[in-house]
Amino acid sequence: MAKIVLKNVTKAFDETQVVKDVNVTIKDGSFTVLVGPSGCGKSTTLRMIAGLEKQTSGDIWIGDRCVNEVPPGKRNIAMVFQNYALYPTMTVKENIEFGLINKKVPKAERKKLINEIAEIVGLTEYLKKKPQHLSGGQRQRVALARAMVKKPQVFILDEPLSNLDAKLRNQMRTELIELHKRLGTTFVYVTHDQVEAMSMGDEIILLNKGEVQQIDSPMKMYRDPNNTFTAEFIGTPA
Ligand code: ADP
Ligand code: MG
Repeated sequence: MAKIVLKNVTKAFDETQVVKDVNVTIKDGSFTVLVGPSGCGKSTTLRMIAGLEKQTSGDIWIGDRCVNEVPPGKRNIAMVFQNYALYPTMTVKENIEFGLINKKVPKAERKKLINEIAEIVGLTEYLKKKPQHLSGGQRQRVALARAMVKKPQVFILDEPLSNLDAKLRNQMRTELIELHKRLGTTFVYVTHDQVEAMSMGDEIILLNKGEVQQIDSPMKMYRDPNNTFTAEFIGTPA
């Protein structure tokens, strides 16, 4: 578990600022949803937290460490994307195990971890299958398992359900909330869908055009929007 702090974080591509002086504290162990319209800077913000993109200015803290100079592999973060790429020639087990072999985790320990995590995400019966023989939801679970097996302090998920059909998406929302409860890890979850944000987050950060509009619980944001953008985006009756 770790809290994440962004202090005056800005990102510009060429001359264009896409993230503007963002100040947020993501609480330790929270399920925080970063939501806003397409192109508002959500993915860029996540990528800066993960270290895949360097901020133009400002500081990023994870736990009690300023990570400005810390490379992605040393931030103790796991990411799950929308277009999670599984290795097609590897089995589910091998896909999950890959990162552990890289980290030189001993074989017996790997086996224990894989079984434990497969059980949590409901993949125990599928460990010997290849990705092509899995459904969309099962593949998404493999991507999650692959991230979880490294026992990160922070989970970052960038629109992980947007390729799934509506029914499965609903089911996976519930599963992710359960998973968060079970792990107690900090989750930072990006979506452009306000219904998803409101139903999943215990804290919501609403972004528009690179600027934070409001940070609150879903209920507070619904009842007490800061401005008309928030009211319209969240759908608060006028
Ligand atoms: P979101 O995830 O909210 O849809 P992004 O963070 O992906 O938004 O993008 C925010 C803005 O930054 C967009 O206008 C996008 O075109 C621009 N952008 C993102 N990545 C790059 C890049 N590598 N180079 C130039 N512009 C980029
Ligand atoms: Mg995005």
